[in-house]
Amino acid sequence: MKRRFPEWLRRDVPEGSTFRTRQTLAQFRLNTVCESALCPNRLECFSRATATFMILGETCTRRCGFCAIQVGKPKKAEEDEPVRVAQAALKLGLRHVVVTSVARDDLWDEGAGAFYNTIQAIQDLLPEATIEVLTPDFHARPELIERVCDAYPTVYNHNVETVESLTPKVRPQAKYERSLNVLRHVKAYDPTVVTKSGLMLGLGERLDEVKETLWDLKSVGCEIVTIGQYLKPKEGKLEIEAFVSPETFALLEEEGLRMGFREVYAGPYVRSSYHAGEAYERSLVPMDIHQTTL
Ligand code: SF4
Repeated sequence: MKRRFPEWLRRDVPEGSTFRTRQTLAQFRLNTVCESALCPNRLECFSRATATFMILGETCTRRCGFCAIQVGKPKKAEEDEPVRVAQAALKLGLRHVVVTSVARDDLWDEGAGAFYNTIQAIQDLLPEATIEVLTPDFHARPELIERVCDAYPTVYNHNVETVESLTPKVRPQAKYERSLNVLRHVKAYDPTVVTKSGLMLGLGERLDEVKETLWDLKSVGCEIVTIGQYLKPKEGKLEIEAFVSPETFALLEEEGLRMGFREVYAGPYVRSSYHAGEAYERSLVPMDIHQTTL
């Protein structure tokens, strides 16, 4: 059933042009999760000359119920892709570069080496930039998580996506606890890396489950959390079970900050890489300033 969007989800088309971003992505033959996942923010982000690079091809080995990315047998990874990502980031003038990938369960290292190479290539060309990676779960294999950390990303993001009870439906090939273990291991291996995770609301979860998820994330040392409204990206994907009000997002932001997260970014159109640079900057604000603004 197609649901009518509530008032708060209606918004104007952004005014800026997306041409420069699209042209740069095409020039360097790069994919973005923005386009492949049909992110509702892509006009806004592209017109601000930001995008989230998606490495290791356009085809994912996992079949998540919420995601529009095509599933199947991926092509061979391209060796020069890390350098092309760095060149595109330079051309776009990015100060905070976000890199994600499709899940590559077919590769012996599940793509961890490509993350390492991409981070290094960006550091070579843009030594001042901060780098955020949003990785698959790597089956929580410590050596793969450590491989990514060894390249020193600024932020290591791995999304739990939803509450524990809905994980089998939303991410059938993933496990809630396994995702928590990824974040736990990142922090244990390198406490200087900022850890981040995100979830979508409107998939049928209860509010108390969302709060429980926040506590679970807190318990593994996660520092930044994003919370957004799930929107069905295309036919065949999970239905929207509820539209969550802006007031509820505001309440979760407040509660999350009270729990001690360094940054909680919640709102209907928030996605894990939405305004990622700004979210990272806010996470650097001393905690006592957060507390006094509540
Ligand atoms: S929110 Fe993230 S995925 Fe969506 S368009 Fe912006 S950068 Fe891309």
